[in-house]
Amino acid sequence: MIPKHDFKKAVRAAINNPYLQQAMETCTVRRTDRVINSLAELKDLKQTRQTAQKIKQYTIDHLDEQLALLSDKLESLGVTVHWAKDARQAREIIIDIAHQHDCRHCVKTKSMTTEEIELTPALNEAGIETIETDLGEYILQLDNDRPSHIITPMIHKSRQEVGQLFQDKLHADYTEEPEELTAIARHHLREKFQQADLGIVGVNFAVAQTGSLVVVENEGNGRMVTARPGVLVGVMGMEKVVPSAKDLAVMLKLYIRSAVGLRLTSYTNIITGPRKSGEIDGPEHLHLVILDNNRSEILAGPYRNLLHCLRCGACLNACPVYRKISGHAYGTVYPGPIGAAITPLLESSNRLSEKLPEFCSLCGACLERCPVMIDLPGLLIQHKRDLIKKNRSSLFYKLVLSVWTWFYSSPARYRFSQKWARHLMRLIARNGWVTFLPPPGSHWTAVRDVPLPKKQLFRDLWKKTNGNP
Ligand code: SF4
Repeated sequence: MIPKHDFKKAVRAAINNPYLQQAMETCTVRRTDRVINSLAELKDLKQTRQTAQKIKQYTIDHLDEQLALLSDKLESLGVTVHWAKDARQAREIIIDIAHQHDCRHCVKTKSMTTEEIELTPALNEAGIETIETDLGEYILQLDNDRPSHIITPMIHKSRQEVGQLFQDKLHADYTEEPEELTAIARHHLREKFQQADLGIVGVNFAVAQTGSLVVVENEGNGRMVTARPGVLVGVMGMEKVVPSAKDLAVMLKLYIRSAVGLRLTSYTNIITGPRKSGEIDGPEHLHLVILDNNRSEILAGPYRNLLHCLRCGACLNACPVYRKISGHAYGTVYPGPIGAAITPLLESSNRLSEKLPEFCSLCGACLERCPVMIDLPGLLIQHKRDLIKKNRSSLFYKLVLSVWTWFYSSPARYRFSQKWARHLMRLIARNGWVTFLPPPGSHWTAVRDVPLPKKQLFRDLWKKTNGNP
């Protein structure tokens, strides 16, 4: 979360940006259609989703056991396992690994977990040149920008902007042809891959039984990062463990289809231990950093099902609010419905993150799309309840509630309040809408317009027609 993020300003900027509006509509609708079609190919979709949900449920219910199993297996394969309590510790561990192996040049794959711990700037500050190698992330890094989607990080950027950026930063001839832009990036990245002595990957799944780390990607950059540098560091949230290879197969089937609408990504890298004698590629030293960062607290509380999340991004594409305002308006690493639900828990000390659940319109589209059927709307309502409980002690809240209760606890007072509210609304309405209310109602109308109520009340109609309107 950006410390001084202004939600209203960011939302207005997004809504008033015609390019963004068109790009969001096209990309999210197209992606959702592709996801729906590719999932429809599964004859046993309902059952597969239920199985995936059970696997996650089992794993999260036995997380300590599964993580211990994974750690033992990894160590038996020669992998060094590190446990990071929070983002700062994770950064320190990774910088230490780089220093121990005397690494100076790092290439990394796209990873939301490394975004969560703000790893890339920390490595660069520590003197380890770190380059994002996913095309979208590379462009964002060149432009000092942040991802606005979990899976499609530069959904908000036009190819004209990218052409201009490559001209300014890479001194390339201006072009806006996607193939030519990709070729320019590939040329520059190739050099970085050759120089790299450290690779960093975000781990999508880790198999406890076999100690395999799975990195899913479409561009081949993950294959280069896992094959070329002598030192490789995997980073994962502690919920990314799956018990067995059989469970992995179920998860991959749903994850890839839900994320990109494909049966399989172009590259599914499965790394089981460091390079063995006789093998021609792979890291000589393999480390895994397992991140907690408040996940233990989430595990112990009413929001534990959020740890079932695969980070597929399907709920973002389905969400009507995300489709309108895009990821930057949230001001968080994880935007959209999953971001609104999990950020207040990952960043519990940040008061701003409490507001995120209010972004939800409770339409339920995310629940329908989520491959592991996380009840995001239910959890967002729970957040809203928690916030109300927390604010109940404030004097203002108590005053508003007492006045409200006084009016609503008597039919006569209720009718009186309705009558005057309607009069007031008519006085200030413009074209049938109330767009401004005096304080404290101004908090409401700053972000919502209220339609004028009908002239005739249902109650009067009922009375007039004897209950048969
Ligand atoms: S909540 Fe569900 S749909 Fe959203 S990112 Fe996580 S797994 Fe995907």
